[in-house]
Amino acid sequence: MSSLLVVGAGLAGLRAVEGARQAGWAGPITIVGDEPHPPYDRPPLSKATLFAEEQPGVPVLRSSEVIEDLRVRHLAGVRVDGLDTERRTVSTSAGKLGYDALVIATGSTATTLPGLTGLPGVHVLRRYDDALAVRESLTRARHVVIVGAGFIGSEIASAARARGIEVTIVEASERPLARAVGPRAAGQLMRLHADAGVRLLTGTTVSGVRTCDDGVEKVELSNGDVLVADAVVLGIGARPATAWLAGSGVALDDRTGGVLCDHRLATSAPGVWAAGDVACVDGERGEHWTGAGEQGRVAGANAAGADEVFASVPFAWSTWHGRRIQVVGETTAAEEEERDAGFILYRRDGVEVGAVGIDSPGPIARLRRSLAARR
Ligand SMILES: Cc1cc2nc3c(=O)[nH]c(=O)nc-3n(C[C@H](O)[C@H](O)[C@H](O)COP(=O)(O)OP(=O)(O)OC[C@H]3O[C@@H](n4cnc5c(N)ncnc54)[C@H](O)[C@@H]3O)c2cc1C
Repeated sequence: MSSLLVVGAGLAGLRAVEGARQAGWAGPITIVGDEPHPPYDRPPLSKATLFAEEQPGVPVLRSSEVIEDLRVRHLAGVRVDGLDTERRTVSTSAGKLGYDALVIATGSTATTLPGLTGLPGVHVLRRYDDALAVRESLTRARHVVIVGAGFIGSEIASAARARGIEVTIVEASERPLARAVGPRAAGQLMRLHADAGVRLLTGTTVSGVRTCDDGVEKVELSNGDVLVADAVVLGIGARPATAWLAGSGVALDDRTGGVLCDHRLATSAPGVWAAGDVACVDGERGEHWTGAGEQGRVAGANAAGADEVFASVPFAWSTWHGRRIQVVGETTAAEEEERDAGFILYRRDGVEVGAVGIDSPGPIARLRRSLAARR
């Protein structure tokens, strides 16, 4: 019987297993992940996990009963370090595994700054274990420096302010979030930080961190200033986790570094599909929950013989200082207009293509439906 192997036991990997079973895959399925936990959800890690008074458990995506019904073997804590597409095998920390069909779902790895990796009190936030370490720091810190004013950095800033901590965000760009949304929306989002008492330093980078036995003491900035801090959290993006594909012949996209896929999620190698943060689909690499899950489902179904197309409208959400932020469709088009308070609409050649909403779930849902209908 043919076997399906899924590498990466996150959202996209789990959905690939579900998609394959729904499409009628009857053979064995193995999902391999280097984390010791069952597949879990990442959005809570920078929200509920950081706010929690008591140490929270792993936010698992499915109960053990549901996983059992899927008849999937989960190899937890096993790292995959190579792929041979000729022999259809992967090498792992627990030996070789064969496959007939393979789904690559290894997500992405948090970017760090040279010289700061491993310093006590300097964190990234990608995994559950990172989130516990950040939460622990926030329970004791009085001053926190967050590097990067993107979505994850901003969520961490919100959790820290809610704990009464003095927060400074250090952001390299003069116009934070300008690559993700237009200037009007970016300005409104950054005002949420100012209103909540977060200090935002733009056009500034971290040049060094001074530590003592207890952790971080001071943060040195490119403008010569030195900030007092008890913890530093880096929110400066993530790179597709593709190191294990080196020499495999699976083609990567030059611009995004993601695994090149067509809109059926097929890669350049026969019998190999990709999904989630690691995938670059028709030239775009998303890093959002909704798209990653749907790609996982489609990749799993197609690996099982279906012929589905990934065509979801891009959608993401975030929560800053108690405000609900939603982003739908294309938000980099030049025609940016504030339609209603907190609802910023984007048009291309006069046609509505996307929006950013702050506490505007109704208009966002309507636009999302109409963009989906157009696709
Ligand atoms: C803190 C945080 C908050 C977020 N909040 C939001 C939000 O509010 N809204 C939103 O839309 N999106 C959010 N996202 C993004 C969303 O969670 C991701 O898009 C989604 O998790 C991607 O799923 P994935 O399965 O592709 O990758 P992942 O969830 O990263 O799963 C990949 C898995 O593969 C494992 N792996 C990697 N390499 C190997 C290897 N060589 N061998 C074995 N295993 C390997 C990884 O350890 C990981 O367990 C957030 C992300 C983070 C990190």
